[in-house]
Amino acid sequence: MNTLQFEQYTALELGRLIQSRQVSSPELTRAFLQRMKEGASFHAYITETAEFALQQAEAVQTRLDAGEVLSPLAGVPAAVKDNICTKGIRTTAGSKMLESFVPPYDAAVMERFAAAGSVLLGKTNLDEFAMGSTSETSYFGPVRNPWDGTRSPGGSSGGSAAAVSGGLAAWALGSDTGGSVRQPCSFCNLSGIKPTYGSLSRYGLIAYASSFDQIGTMGRDILDAAAALDLISEKPLGLASVYASDSLGNIADVSAASASAPFAGLRIGLPEDWLQGADSEVKDAVLAAAKTMEAAGAAIVPLHLPELDAAVPAYYVIACAEASSNLARYDGVRYGHRAADAKDLQDVFVTSRTEGFGPEVKRRILLGSFVLSAGHYDAYYKKALEARCRIAAAFDRAFSACDCILAPAAPTVAPQLTGTFGSQNTSAGNAASRSGSASPQDPLALYKADLYTVPANLAGIPAVSVPCGFSAEGLPIGLQLMGKAWSEPLLVRTAALWQQLTDYHKQRPLRDPAQRGHGTNAEVSERTSAAKGGAAK
Ligand code: GLN
Repeated sequence: MNTLQFEQYTALELGRLIQSRQVSSPELTRAFLQRMKEGASFHAYITETAEFALQQAEAVQTRLDAGEVLSPLAGVPAAVKDNICTKGIRTTAGSKMLESFVPPYDAAVMERFAAAGSVLLGKTNLDEFAMGSTSETSYFGPVRNPWDGTRSPGGSSGGSAAAVSGGLAAWALGSDTGGSVRQPCSFCNLSGIKPTYGSLSRYGLIAYASSFDQIGTMGRDILDAAAALDLISEKPLGLASVYASDSLGNIADVSAASASAPFAGLRIGLPEDWLQGADSEVKDAVLAAAKTMEAAGAAIVPLHLPELDAAVPAYYVIACAEASSNLARYDGVRYGHRAADAKDLQDVFVTSRTEGFGPEVKRRILLGSFVLSAGHYDAYYKKALEARCRIAAAFDRAFSACDCILAPAAPTVAPQLTGTFGSQNTSAGNAASRSGSASPQDPLALYKADLYTVPANLAGIPAVSVPCGFSAEGLPIGLQLMGKAWSEPLLVRTAALWQQLTDYHKQRPLRDPAQRGHGTNAEVSERTSAAKGGAAK
């Protein structure tokens, strides 16, 4: 295999190449490390772990050579969002508060990551404490979208998305509190899974809003994301082994569907009035996907879900309330940033937090403290909890009429970076020289753009995002499928069938980051024509 072209392969394909001894894990790891150097301008990583990656690659190769049977992704290099604790490796959550924090323990998912023979290339950039939708609130500077370097890759798991999309990792872990796995996948033409709330341990995931926080997986296609989910799951659902097939036949066996009508028997809910919140290109792509599925045998069930109108306000009230409580632990005393010249204990608290947190985090702590305060609790927090219950009940009702719900993952394609933070690299020195006093974009507008992702977190249900088209400018559009709790096998199967019918997920951004950095018209038209080639088969 020509390792220079490895980013054209899916992670499962790379795993098979390792298993069949066509490439070794150390060879592949070195190729990815080289590619990370070439793609440094994406700012996808906060901390690169080259030496550790090579040690892990050697170790897994030894285990494979000894005949040990490991995950299908064994030896395939991956990236991990920098809010997931890694023992002995700096974990910053994208914040000055944790700029030099080295966890003394691994997150539960990282224990399984290591046991399965995975290789960690580094820790990826994110919005500070995972609060944001563009990866611009990171203390370490914004991430660039490999499809167009002037645009955001989405957030908060934007570093993980840029790494996989730009060929700087084969697959990645992210976290999804209100859409941070699904929305960056949508902006970067990847596939991602936000599993059922509680299905993966949160131990070692730096807390943002605990009743929503959920680790998820990102890959070049849905099978990669499914294999990654199996790899980190305490009780794997066998998603990889059942679905890691190139032939429709095998998948059809499982779904008991016929090859000519692979979606037969599947009831897909389509909340058409909810779709009106999306840009027309996005809406059209999702409606076209519904038509394709219908033509392939699915029954489309019209849904009316007015309860979802309350999703964004309810989410932000509850998420900020939980964040204000979770972030109280950063007091400058126990761990994290401590102000240098504090006069007394009170000043240690106040100045450490003033210096350590960026503006978006402060905004949310203030909002959260406000909605939890005695005089306002009933008016805001309690009301938001009630709305949350109504949304969960609405989903319950919907899932008696359909098997999964189709929606966009985001109302738009990737937005332009605002440039508030200018152009810089991810080095701490650079970050320290920035004031970070301005907000990257209009916060309220960004909150509202979470309308399609937060309902699944409010209800705790699983959801996946898969590519479903490109805008006129050649930017990826993502399709979301939501299902009832523990319906990951159904969602993965449906997404895998969708992939069998389409080529969107096979499109890659241009390879040369130097060319991609500025998103010239010529490149955009090149991508657009590639996109047209990627229409439904
Ligand atoms: N954009 C949402 C927020 O800012 C979701 C972030 C996330 O899922 N981590 O809260």
